Amino acid sequence: MSSHRSLGSRSSIPGFLSSLAHRPRPGREGSKDDAPPIIKLKSPREIALMREAGRVVAKALDQVRRMAAPGVTTADMADVVAAVFREYNAKPLFLGYPSSDKGKPPFPAVICASVNEQVVHGIPNRRPLREGDVVSIDTGCNLNGWCGDAAVTLAIGQPSPQSEKLLSVTVETLDLAIRAMSRCRYWSEVASLMDRYVKSQGFHVIEKFVGHGIGQTMHEEPQVPNFVSKSLRKHDIKLEPGLVLAIEPMVAVGTKEVRTLTDGWTVETKDRRPSAHFEHTVAVTVDGPRILTLIEDTPAATPPDQLTIGST
Ligand code: MG
Repeated sequence: MSSHRSLGSRSSIPGFLSSLAHRPRPGREGSKDDAPPIIKLKSPREIALMREAGRVVAKALDQVRRMAAPGVTTADMADVVAAVFREYNAKPLFLGYPSSDKGKPPFPAVICASVNEQVVHGIPNRRPLREGDVVSIDTGCNLNGWCGDAAVTLAIGQPSPQSEKLLSVTVETLDLAIRAMSRCRYWSEVASLMDRYVKSQGFHVIEKFVGHGIGQTMHEEPQVPNFVSKSLRKHDIKLEPGLVLAIEPMVAVGTKEVRTLTDGWTVETKDRRPSAHFEHTVAVTVDGPRILTLIEDTPAATPPDQLTIGST
């Protein structure tokens, strides 16, 4: 789940933690008392525990991927994810997550399901998905005290050429970020690559929501924007072993501007054109970045010969 990007001070962390998505915390950027984030690095043993939580998340999303077809509902998908979490005795992280907006209800489901123009934090419902829809499914669990968080965007039936390109650009943005982590020293270098790649494809990076550190809680320091934000310029994130991040580019076809619906959760693009969202929990290790939210173990990502930011 993404975090609301903060514009203010560290003292607003409880407010940030009470927001499901990565909404920027009000008040970090530009505030007078902003201090560098306190990042909890994880030991190899802790990363191994997070790997097991991440594997359960990956299994749940794999089940969702297999069922994605016209006629299926996002409520059906939530039921399947809840069943996988029960099977592994994992605690859903999203269900009951408090809203950062006073008086708004907590998040009511184990997944966020965001269809078409919805960006993040959509609430699952009983409307059958239709041919050509694109639906982002985001979920997370706590297993034995450690968290995993991941998201995929799925095409229902045959997507339009534009939606197909949107999905491939967004997944490639996540992929190039993870690969770049093996050779970049600071997150700003990675964020710049992500933003430039998305723009080179004619699309827009959503800036209001960002990735996040993750560990024993879902949302930890630091905030991980998919572009070079002011706060990132001020307090860059060193990519060192033990750093674990939920990296989650959100990409829109027409605009980066978003609004939140009256349910208090669902975020949609202001132009109501489609957006997509992919997320992995990734650990920086001495052997390079490791994706924790996959079913199978894979070698640490190796740097490509070069990262091409092209127009193809
Ligand atoms: Mg997240």
